[in-house]
Amino acid sequence: MLSRLEQICVEKGLKMTEQRRVISRVLSVATDHPDVEQVFKRAADIDDRISIATVYRTVRLLEDAGVIERLDFGDGRARFEEARDEHHHHLIDVQSGEVVEFNCDELEAIKQRIAGELGYELLGHRLELYGVPLEGSARHGAK
Ligand SMILES: [Zn+2]
Repeated sequence: MLSRLEQICVEKGLKMTEQRRVISRVLSVATDHPDVEQVFKRAADIDDRISIATVYRTVRLLEDAGVIERLDFGDGRARFEEARDEHHHHLIDVQSGEVVEFNCDELEAIKQRIAGELGYELLGHRLELYGVPLEGSARHGAK
């Protein structure tokens, strides 16, 4: 069975070699926003003929096609996730490196309002939150 990401690639008319399929599948099942190194390790576990250069090329191809998104959490490593219709943001736990996803309608409205008040139509934005778990919260001490 094709992963969601492979399916979209096929629909977009991308030529899907076996190695591209493996890399797409790795990205499609990932929930942790992996970087290229991590994608490479997972893909090479499935098919050891896959090189890091192939992963770099494929990730760029998928990014250019708009099926995956590049994320920057300020540590110099580009991360990737499957592009979804539903918009969301990320909170980065600076202790564990865990990435927590969230969305907030209020935030979306504020961004629209700010752009509008400045006389602009909003086309895009970047927003990441960085934090450490609060004492006593469910996340506190979780590793
Ligand atoms: Zn995400």
